[in-house]
Order: sequence, then C-alpha cells, then structure tokens
Amino acid sequence: MSLVAAHDLRLSYGDTPALDGCSLSVEAGERVAMMGPSGSGKSTLLHCLAGVLRPDAGTVMFDGVDVVPLSESRRSRLRLERMGVVFQFGDLVPELSLAENVMLPAQLLGMSSARARSRALALLDELGVADVAHRRAGTVSGGQAQRAAVARAIVHEPAVVYADEPTGSLDTVNAELVLDALVDLTGRSGAALVVVTHDHQVAAHLDRLVTMRDGRVTQPAGVGA
Ligand code: ADP
Ligand code: ADP
Repeated sequence: MSLVAAHDLRLSYGDTPALDGCSLSVEAGERVAMMGPSGSGKSTLLHCLAGVLRPDAGTVMFDGVDVVPLSESRRSRLRLERMGVVFQFGDLVPELSLAENVMLPAQLLGMSSARARSRALALLDELGVADVAHRRAGTVSGGQAQRAAVARAIVHEPAVVYADEPTGSLDTVNAELVLDALVDLTGRSGAALVVVTHDHQVAAHLDRLVTMRDGRVTQPAGVGA
C-alpha cells in the first residue's frame, strides 16, 4: 500500500478548473519532485494532499485513510501528527523566535519543552542558522526563515513532507542550502518528500519526477495510481 494515494481529484475555483482528474501515489520514504507550468495545479494538489484544501471530488488516501471526508479539525490533527509542510514564503510566526517556531509542532504533540528546544536547536545548528535561533522570525532574512521552516517541517519526524516551491523567494546559494537540507533530513528520517520545484538539477537528485499539466499528472503517477 502506498503511503499517499490521490485518485481522480477534481477541484475548481469558481469557473477555473485547477485539478481535472489528477492522480498521484507516493511510497513511504520516496522523494518526488513535481514540475510543470505555472497554473497547472501543483499548489492546489499539494494543498489537497496535505488536507488543507478539500477537492470537489476524488480520494486522498493517507496511510489507508481517505482524508477528504474528515472534518477540518481531524485533518489538522493528522497534518500535525504525520505531515510537515513548507510553503514558498515561510509561514513562521513572526513574533516568535526561530527556535520557538521550530519547537511548536513538537510541543503541540506533547514533547517536553526542554526536549523540543534541544531538538530545535540541533536542527537549526545543522542548517547553519544557530546564530540567529533566538531572533524573532520577523527579523531574519528570507533564507534564514526558510531554513527554520524546513526544521519545523521535520522536527516531529513526519511520514511525509510537502514543500511548495520552498526556495522560490531565495537566491541560488540559499536555495541550494534549503533544498539540500530538505533532501538530507527527509532521507535520514525516512520521510517521504514531495517538492514542487522549477530546478531540473534538484529533480535529478530525487527518486522520481512527476510533471503536471492542465490539472493532471502527465508523467508516471506512481504505483497503483
Ligand atoms: P501552480 O501551483 O501549478 O501554479 P495552482 O494550483 O496555483 O497552480 O493554480 C491552478 C489554477 O487554479 C490556476 O489557473 C490558478 O490561477 C487557479 N487558482 C489557484 N488558486 C486560486 C484561488 N485561490 N482562486 C482562484 N483561482 C485560483
Ligand atoms: P505558485 O507559486 O504555486 O504558482 P501562484 O502564484 O499560482 O502560486 O499562487 C500564489 C497564491 O495565489 C496561492 O495562494 C494561490 O491559491 C493564489 N492564486 C493563484 N491564482 C489565483 C487566482 N486566479 N485568483 C486568486 N488567487 C489565486
């Protein structure tokens, strides 16, 4: 059984179809790059996989459970427990320090503050932002914030990390750092990764490339999709 299996998703924003019979499967631990033209539905698909958006039709099986019919609160809980997400413009809490932002998911899941803090600091250190770990997220650079967003997505050892153009707002050097971190950390923890990217070099480093066009996955959608 695949970790994630989305089948025949349809979603329109008013009259604009964003997903039009879209299917994708992701195996446990598999790292997938997703490419495709702007407007082809990549963001919308990721939001459906993460249970943020509910498609108009179709199923999103996560570890054997269809998340589509679940209530908002059950989807949020599942996301917190089993998934990590990184968006293009980090969505850190600007008033909290980087360390506090990274600690949050672990604490919400019941980890002690001391343990969450030491994990957060270790991750931030590894990502090269230990020196700004105590600065408020609203005051650090985009590259520093995105590295913290990666740490936050992985701190609670999720089964899968969804990243939507996590480096879209960064210069080349920072983009490489952030992507390397995502790939390394998911690899080490055994988490699956689905990352939307425009960078073919990134795609070449992952297990599989899928391409979206007009609201569908047009290239190998994965086992059983
Ligand atoms: P991609 O991530 O590949 O750029 P999106 O999923 O963002 O694609 O968008 C797919 C289609 O849905 C596009 O036509 C886009 O303009 C439209 N769309 C996305 N989000 C919204 C929204 N919130 N309201 C209306 N249309 C949207
Ligand atoms: P991406 O980087 O994935 O291509 P977009 O630039 O398409 O993202 O979209 C950025 C944000 O704007 C998203 O939250 C998306 O939902 C929203 N959006 C995209 N297209 C539209 C649209 N036509 N109308 C309203 N919101 C949109």
